[in-house]
Amino acid sequence: MRINNLTVPAIATRAPAPRLAARLAASILAATVFYVDTFTSIESAIAVLYVIVLLLAAETLGRKGICAVTLSCAALAVISYFPAHGFSPDFPSLLRLAVSLSALLITCSLILRNDRARSDLIASNAALKDSESRYRSIFEQSRVALWERDYSQVRYFLMDLKAKGVVDLRDYAKTHPDVISDCIALIRTVAANAAARDLLGDIGEIAPDGSMRSYLAPNEVTFLELMVAIFNQEGSFEGKGNLMAADGQTKLVLLSMTLPDDPSRFDRVVVGMVDITEREMTQKALLEAQADLTRASRAATVGALSASLAHELNQPLGALVVNAQTALRWIDRDPPDLAAIRRSAERMIRDSKRASDIIRNTRSMLSHEIQNPEEVALPELIAETRALMDHDLGREDVTVDVTYGPGARTVAAVRIELQQVLINLMSNAIQVMAETNVARRRILIESERRSDGSTVLSVRDFGPGIAEDAAARLFEPFFTTKATGMGMGLSICKSMMEARGGDLLARNHPDGGAVFEITIPISEKADD
Ligand code: ADP
Repeated sequence: MRINNLTVPAIATRAPAPRLAARLAASILAATVFYVDTFTSIESAIAVLYVIVLLLAAETLGRKGICAVTLSCAALAVISYFPAHGFSPDFPSLLRLAVSLSALLITCSLILRNDRARSDLIASNAALKDSESRYRSIFEQSRVALWERDYSQVRYFLMDLKAKGVVDLRDYAKTHPDVISDCIALIRTVAANAAARDLLGDIGEIAPDGSMRSYLAPNEVTFLELMVAIFNQEGSFEGKGNLMAADGQTKLVLLSMTLPDDPSRFDRVVVGMVDITEREMTQKALLEAQADLTRASRAATVGALSASLAHELNQPLGALVVNAQTALRWIDRDPPDLAAIRRSAERMIRDSKRASDIIRNTRSMLSHEIQNPEEVALPELIAETRALMDHDLGREDVTVDVTYGPGARTVAAVRIELQQVLINLMSNAIQVMAETNVARRRILIESERRSDGSTVLSVRDFGPGIAEDAAARLFEPFFTTKATGMGMGLSICKSMMEARGGDLLARNHPDGGAVFEITIPISEKADD
């Protein structure tokens, strides 16, 4: 790396031996001039030669010394004047004295002014050197990769194109693709800091001529954009580009540079680069993961939805089949029992309606359609649910007993949802009591008004109770202990109740069996 070292002029001080010689020469010359001026009758301005004395002495003296020598020489010239000319001076001799004194004065003031200018120059050079070394240390120590590049030739080339009538460099590059490689060849890297060498390797090793060519990845478009910025005389450039490191790796960098206003300063433009390869890769991976997640969650939603619909529709569809079979039996009778056929047909209509209600409710949940709770009379709802479950209850010999606590006959709920929950809990109760003694196969439904205004509807069975290892996962989707179970019922029921501000909890009863408690939140309309 080349670092420009400024050569600060050395302060003009002579070594001791030449200084002594100069002073001696000055003294001898002064004595000689004084002798000739005083004791000879040469009619000329000999005293002007004191100027040489002053010049010789000035080389070895400071400002005060120079003034002292000037005064001494002037005094000697005046002293020499009187023995030769006495107190009746003539005009020519006076003029000669005046010339000599003036020469001394002018020389003295020139020497002093020169000295001041030299001191100022030394001071400003020192400040410049200081600033240069500060810049160098910032340049070298910066953790941002920095390059000093010479863009002067490429600028000249681009300005020449402009002068020749090129208006849009991008368009021009399309028809003259060589312009890019011409530009690349005109840029030289002057210096690179340690971070830059870490990023791309050593320019000296990659391109001994300092050319940028080997750095640029094929089809890199950012370079053209940089050329456009120079062509359009913009003040700065920022871009993202692919560069090839010395070890062959491609690096994605964020590039930033300030383009000087003064064309003469294009020979040293600082280019900063930040390696964003990893950041971009992480961002890409993140976006891909997000897309995967969206796809997965969509698949999961569809899966859960199908599972939920399949589960919830199972009951009304099963009832439909049972009622259709019953109707067929009544038709096969001789004579057919028309009244019974009618009852079966009515049940089939009811079951179909329930099925379509379930589908409508699921659809409205998906579309976030707001379903406002309505006033639901629990006795009516439970009677209807019992009628729906009639077949299952009868098949398994299960009886249902209902008790209502004070103020707990009406609740505010989405009717179809509450009924779905009840059907799920009763179905589970019927299933788990398959092994229970027939005399004990009962479902107890109790409603109770709590002090906070909410209503708790509990469904108790007399089955084996909730298994210890199942308790924690009871409400998880797809958790089932049944050979043909889906494990969706309880999870759907809990989500539905929670969505309405209520809850669904399960526990074992001390006297055996499981108890599921539906909490229906307070409603102003809920009153007995
Ligand atoms: P599935 O009925 O398809 O298994 P659920 O979500 O309705 O799905 O029930 C999940 C599990 O909870 C059941 O497999 C069972 O182990 C347990 N469970 C549900 N109801 C009862 C109950 N009344 N008594 C004991 N365990 C029950």
